[in-house]
Amino acid sequence: MISVLEPATEQVLAEVPQAGVEETDAAVARALAAFPAWRAVAPGERAAQLRSLADALEERREELATLEARNAGKPIADARGEMAMVVDTFRYYAGAPERLLGETIPVPGGVDMTFREPLGVVGLIVPWNFPLTIASWKVAPALAAGNTVVLKPAELTPLTALELERIALAAGLAEGVVNVVAGPGRVAGQRLIEHPDVAKIAFTGSTEVGRGIAQGAAGTIKRVTLELGGKSANVVFADADLERAAAAAPLAVFGNAGQDCCARSRILVERSALDRFMAALEVAVEGLRVGDPLDESTQMGPLISAGQRESVAAYVDGDAPVAIRGSAPERPGFWFPPTVLCPVSNDDRAAREEIFGPVASVIPFVDEADAVRLANDTIYGLSGSIWTRDGAKALRVARALETGVLSVNSNTSVRVGTPFGGFKQSGVGRELGPHALDAYTEVKNVFYATE
Ligand code: NAD
Repeated sequence: MISVLEPATEQVLAEVPQAGVEETDAAVARALAAFPAWRAVAPGERAAQLRSLADALEERREELATLEARNAGKPIADARGEMAMVVDTFRYYAGAPERLLGETIPVPGGVDMTFREPLGVVGLIVPWNFPLTIASWKVAPALAAGNTVVLKPAELTPLTALELERIALAAGLAEGVVNVVAGPGRVAGQRLIEHPDVAKIAFTGSTEVGRGIAQGAAGTIKRVTLELGGKSANVVFADADLERAAAAAPLAVFGNAGQDCCARSRILVERSALDRFMAALEVAVEGLRVGDPLDESTQMGPLISAGQRESVAAYVDGDAPVAIRGSAPERPGFWFPPTVLCPVSNDDRAAREEIFGPVASVIPFVDEADAVRLANDTIYGLSGSIWTRDGAKALRVARALETGVLSVNSNTSVRVGTPFGGFKQSGVGRELGPHALDAYTEVKNVFYATE
């Protein structure tokens, strides 16, 4: 059994059976058996079934939000927003089955055409920070393209994924189309990676585990998409609306208690504006409401586990240049106060490693070239922001940054209809938007002789 904890209380929230190799093999067998019928479902009917699933999720939205908030320790307001995105993701990809277009290509002697074929059984491995949201980014396009899926949630947060399996069945999807195995990564996850009947692995998690997945998948030349870690830069130029940039900066790194792959955890500030920016940032960080995830006004909850808190605390030791420290409850729960370190060198450990907790590093820069150099001096390339009133500079810097998802005068990265994914060691492939379908289909080329 897996004992699922509630991070805000350290109490056991649920006990669920733990899947091992046998259960994973059984799930793959069910998915394989369901594949021929699912891919043969007419596109309009497959779209209708995905809309029914979206409707069923919408009906259960409040209950799922509460479950996610309790299990992941995230503020209920955030969890509600995430469940809305889950519903939107299934609705968006319900439009895909009827729009999986091929091409005709002019060739001599006949007609040449392409088809987007499903892959078969797809293994989906997801982390604990946005459990059902990240699962939906994978399940929805995979199903829309005609694949069947085996989803492996993180051991710490399996509850909403297990609900998804039940909801999909109740919404009318055939048995075996959506399968969930709640088991340890090294057992259930590893088995999916090695299983000869799994055509592809879509993974979200740490760069370290992603590297192992790429290696493991090589054995059977599985298709792989990887959404990995980040150390994103929030670049604030002196000509920006500094008050807005400072007011928005805390939640861009402390949202989800910093356990966000898109966290703008390196705040690069033009040196001439540093004092003004820090003064405004202090007000914003000290005003953050850290507390009970089920309280409507909470903006930041606890960390996911005792282990995570220990790992985050190691970055704020006695020598750390703590410039701002917010509040955190003093009671059971894996709490950690939002913390800003300043000044930090881009070579310091706090600026190089993904802390995955509420710790931000403020790094001063001298000019545009210096900002671009510092922002790109990382193994990661997932997300980032640029704050300036100079439109040409914003576009120059946006083109120069080696990162997959950028925002100008905003810190939002993720939309259902736009591609999301990383450069460099932040991953391979794109999720969401029209691009995700490429990752769940093979292009087949057919030549038909007419002479
Ligand atoms: P993790 O890599 O430890 O685990 C992710 C998933 O992989 C879990 O389901 C886990 O059980 C499984 N797993 C672990 N070891 C495995 C193995 N050997 N074989 C197969 N599966 C295995 O990551 P985490 O701690 O759950 O999540 C945090 C990480 O996820 C951070 O690095 C974060 O940046 C990253 N993340 C990335 C994105 C993105 O879209 N780029 C989004 C969210 C989180």
